[in-house]
Amino acid sequence: MTDSADRLQEPQPGYVTRTLLRWFMRPARVAAVSAVSEHFRLVDLEGDALKNIAWTVGEKIQISMGTGLMARTYTPISWDTERGRTRLLAFMHGDAPGSRWAGGLREGDTCQFFGPRRSLDLSGIEAPLVLFGDETSFALAAALRTLQSPRTTVIFEVSDVAESGPVLEEIGLGDANLTARAANDAHLGAVADKVAAHASTGAHFVLTGKAPAIQHVNRALRAAGVGSSRMKTKAYWAPGKTGLD
Ligand SMILES: Cc1cc2nc3c(=O)[nH]c(=O)nc-3n(C[C@H](O)[C@H](O)[C@H](O)COP(=O)(O)OP(=O)(O)OC[C@H]3O[C@@H](n4cnc5c(N)ncnc54)[C@H](O)[C@@H]3O)c2cc1C
Repeated sequence: MTDSADRLQEPQPGYVTRTLLRWFMRPARVAAVSAVSEHFRLVDLEGDALKNIAWTVGEKIQISMGTGLMARTYTPISWDTERGRTRLLAFMHGDAPGSRWAGGLREGDTCQFFGPRRSLDLSGIEAPLVLFGDETSFALAAALRTLQSPRTTVIFEVSDVAESGPVLEEIGLGDANLTARAANDAHLGAVADKVAAHASTGAHFVLTGKAPAIQHVNRALRAAGVGSSRMKTKAYWAPGKTGLD
């Protein structure tokens, strides 16, 4: 069966859902999709509904998956509010709605989304930042790098270092520090040490990505004397949970 035939057979939202979508969601057109690697898609969305809106680095959008009100959350890398255009980097981890959505996108497709809405509030932080995360945090890191300050050091755990390296180069993060995930999270001690090595510099810490990894790094930072005023955490996904926002 062809791709488009597959899409025609997807269940269509009912009247109430369609009305809610119209009221609360912004329509967008896919202006470009780039397969930067097997598991990553850079996606440009555009449309009048993306013009003249307030967006700040660290905010999220929630994209409707086309059936009912189910949505998946992504982080804009940039937002041109005059042109009405935003850029996302979607990681396709497996067979799940968000991954399938990203993998099936074609230029000219349309979608609907909530937002942008506050997620991590990084305003007012002047000190250097250390960002810990994973593939789902690449977009946040790229967004932070669009700012003149604060300077951001980027430390990621990833499933595939060989794939992630070139993707990060493509979005201007070639200097990111990468650690390969190991069985039973055996790599997390080493990653937490890398992050905690910045504790004495006065840096602020932003912990994102996989919930158990965030908890591990959080504990290491507390042990190194970093208080909650220097830490912001936001779980982007957790094993066995769906659609965190
Ligand atoms: C504020 C916020 C911002 C985010 N920004 C981005 C972004 O810019 N780019 C991006 O790619 N993602 C981002 N995410 C993460 C993304 O929303 C989740 O990974 C989401 O679960 C993907 O939806 P899905 O339908 O593919 O998987 P789901 O149906 O939600 O999950 C199914 C199962 O897959 C597993 N799973 C989920 N995510 C992953 C993963 N990344 N790796 C391995 N296994 C996973 C879990 O076990 C889960 O139970 C963000 C999340 C939040 C909360």
